Amino acid sequence: MTGPDLRVIAPEDDRYNATLVARSDETESLGYFTIKFDGPAVPFESGQYMTIGVIADGRLVQRPYSVASDPGVAESEGYELYIRLVNGGQFTPLLWQLPLGHRMRMIGPKGKFTLLPDDDRTHLFISSGTGNAPFVSMMRRLAREGHPRRAVFLNGVSYQHELGYRSLVEGWAASGSYPVTYVPTVSRRTAPENEGWNGRWGRVESIVAPVCDELGLTPANTIVYICGNPDMILSAEETLLGRGFPEDQVKTELYWPKGKEPRGGE
Ligand SMILES: Cc1cc2nc3c(=O)[nH]c(=O)nc-3n(C[C@H](O)[C@H](O)[C@H](O)COP(=O)(O)OP(=O)(O)OC[C@H]3O[C@@H](n4cnc5c(N)ncnc54)[C@H](O)[C@@H]3O)c2cc1C
Repeated sequence: MTGPDLRVIAPEDDRYNATLVARSDETESLGYFTIKFDGPAVPFESGQYMTIGVIADGRLVQRPYSVASDPGVAESEGYELYIRLVNGGQFTPLLWQLPLGHRMRMIGPKGKFTLLPDDDRTHLFISSGTGNAPFVSMMRRLAREGHPRRAVFLNGVSYQHELGYRSLVEGWAASGSYPVTYVPTVSRRTAPENEGWNGRWGRVESIVAPVCDELGLTPANTIVYICGNPDMILSAEETLLGRGFPEDQVKTELYWPKGKEPRGGE
């Protein structure tokens, strides 16, 4: 554990160009944050990220986040981000202190983790934790455009209450409004918080092979996108390459470099 963060966040600064317009907390350490530019929205592609920050003790502290919202609502609503609080982290403890209406800096978009045009293969989306954000944006966009692509959406978390966007995706699957097979998995078998969980157990990388077998996902009919924790990505990628997927059919977005842990510990 670390002590309280005593840095002073500037309420106003010339570098601010955006405002926190919505915030909803999924758990104590997972939240949805919507940030809107003061001026016109900057267009982005689903899968890209924005970099957001605040000034603390006179210094700009900023980090990149995949956008989870549909690019089509950036102008009217802003950019929705799904973020985990990292205890001892440089930026997220500051973000968690911000009230609605707080001023922020936002730049972007950046990133190449985007969908290929007119790809009618099944899209296998593999994510750990908040790594589900770009996939939610992709499906929201495709749904709005009326061209949904068949998707198999894997999301791995430690505790069942950490399954962000669960009701949205379950709703799509149940109503058939988006052709998605949702496969959440929970890793901590003995945790009391997971009592009553009747879905899959284990880390998301451990269910890649069985899910491919059960659903008939092969290099001939599937394109893969993986996002989140670097160890998970490397392991899932290894499984897929071992099953004959060519490297350019497995696209990845790492949220931090392999082997790097937060300074203050979790
Ligand atoms: C392209 C890109 C997109 C990203 N999109 C998201 C996103 O949509 N949602 C999100 O929560 N994070 C996302 N991140 C991670 C984010 O940029 C920050 O690294 C994270 O919020 C921690 O920042 P910090 O300053 O609080 O911690 P730092 O002081 O920078 O500590 C970083 C360490 O925190 C840990 N860490 C970082 N991100 C996470 C995470 N999501 N879950 C668990 N541990 C983590 C890692 O050990 C990392 O080395 C993304 C990163 C990249 C490169």
